[in-house]
Amino acid sequence: MGDVSRSTPMSAARQFPPWSPRDVTRSTLVALTTAAGVIVCYLTASSTLELSTQLTCVAVAIILVAVAGAGWAALLTDGLRSVRVRRLEVARDIVLLLETQDQRPKVPVGASEVPSLVSGDRMSKYHRPECLLVKGKQVSAATLSEHAAADRTACDVCKPDGAWAAS
Ligand SMILES: [Zn+2]
Repeated sequence: MGDVSRSTPMSAARQFPPWSPRDVTRSTLVALTTAAGVIVCYLTASSTLELSTQLTCVAVAIILVAVAGAGWAALLTDGLRSVRVRRLEVARDIVLLLETQDQRPKVPVGASEVPSLVSGDRMSKYHRPECLLVKGKQVSAATLSEHAAADRTACDVCKPDGAWAAS
């Protein structure tokens, strides 16, 4: 599996989670500033009987909340976009990984000369020795070319000529 992690494109290490620490700090500051502003508006409005001052305070509080809300909406939209981008990157990385695995040699060097694949006299498939389909059966080991000469093909369950190196 060392190959797999090494062949993962660097994009995986790129910015994720969706928000940088700076975004989070800035948003927290905006939220705190907004809350402080609304509290000041409330205190100012409740300490006076002058209607115009109270109206001004309410208007300022509404504007503060609206601006902060727009900021948060932008932040959430950013996050959503970066999650989407990341999802595409992950999908592409998976495709790349699958392609990389397909390019591995199907049979390790020299394996076709070693009698390590088993089959029985009347079997049309050859198997890895540990395959469940040959467990308890009378089989003998032979080389890949011997199996090929006997018109046998690879077992679909243990896949002796695919992903050999992986196990
Ligand atoms: Zn098999």
